[in-house]
Amino acid sequence: MKNLASQLQERRQQQLYRERLVVDGPQGVVVRIDGRDYLSFCSNDYLGLANHPEVVAAFHHGLDEFGSGSGAAHLITGHSRAHHVLEEELASFVQRPRALLFSTGYSANLGIISSLLGRSDRVFEDRLNHASLLDAARLSNARLLRYPHVDTEVLASQLAAAPASEYLVATDAVFSMDGDSAPLARLSAVAAQHDAWLLVDDAHGLGVLGPHGRGSVAGAGLGVSEVPILMGTLGKAFGTFGAFVAGSDDLVETLIQQARTYIYTTAPPPAVACATRAALQRVREDDWRREHLQALIKRFRTGAMQLGLALCDSQTPIQPLLVGTAGQALKFSLALREQGILITAIRPPTVAEGSSRLRITFSAMHSEVQVDRLLAALERAGMAARDAAGAAR
Ligand SMILES: *Cc1c(COP(=O)(O)O)cnc(C)c1O
Repeated sequence: MKNLASQLQERRQQQLYRERLVVDGPQGVVVRIDGRDYLSFCSNDYLGLANHPEVVAAFHHGLDEFGSGSGAAHLITGHSRAHHVLEEELASFVQRPRALLFSTGYSANLGIISSLLGRSDRVFEDRLNHASLLDAARLSNARLLRYPHVDTEVLASQLAAAPASEYLVATDAVFSMDGDSAPLARLSAVAAQHDAWLLVDDAHGLGVLGPHGRGSVAGAGLGVSEVPILMGTLGKAFGTFGAFVAGSDDLVETLIQQARTYIYTTAPPPAVACATRAALQRVREDDWRREHLQALIKRFRTGAMQLGLALCDSQTPIQPLLVGTAGQALKFSLALREQGILITAIRPPTVAEGSSRLRITFSAMHSEVQVDRLLAALERAGMAARDAAGAAR
């Protein structure tokens, strides 16, 4: 048996030890930890729906109508009317024939790739894809080829060189740690040219981007024939929990028959689906949330540029500031914490060695004053001075 204690100690020395914060009370732009309120810039509750009164009320009503648990997997007796109606509404929202709910985005990705591919097939993935897409490729036993970030030319040559088999190209639509967007139109053209499936994981675009929040794929003007497999999550902009896959009737039926992460797991509580239906209504109707979010992003980027901070090429609510080593990222995170601002340090293996960062995210519930407070705190924490020194070198 390996010595876990010494392994943990080593991790600590490398500044890679991960610890959980215990949050008291609901999610929001202000969160309470150990009796102190922090202004948070690191949740994925982009639209501020995780504690919206209508969503919470729908959750309560769902509990009254359906009870607390689903009691079984979807294929036994766990598939409630609430799940079913939500699937229909989600399909219509993303303008695809069908949608299928999964318990999490992680399990949806595992289910999709392992259902469609086997040992003799190939998966092509962006180097910065979310861990769940990489794990999905492993679970499928298909051969995994990773292409350099957003490099569709390398992807095209990898596809051209591959022996005849089933191919699937998988990409984050918005890269979760960088906030930049995948070149969806080019990816879909390359995939189509090589008769490959294209799976787009829009965990961070759904609700935030595209007309009425329909997501990155709708924003790029692509339909179900260009992007046959769309995965969306419900725990981020939707403020609830779960995920779905949208596509053709045949795709959804195949997943129902074959996706082990769908079949062999308990259906989420129906009340969660009730809450998500209320969230979907806010997503669809509240364009002001997206407009305000864009205004905040613009204000932050303008201010950060004036401070000389090194911004990433992102137009989304994910606005990371690259720091470098894990130790430095932790140090800045703590310096901000002391000023009452919560931004977690993202370190390897979540991001590459030397690219540890502060992953700043915005919510429609932030105010412009709070963005200004963040900028002032970043300056006081010494981030601006540091980057100015870096630029002078
Ligand atoms: C969060 C995330 C997932 C996982 O979704 P969960 O519902 O949290 O399991 C999948 N893909 C991407 C890109 C994500 O950011």
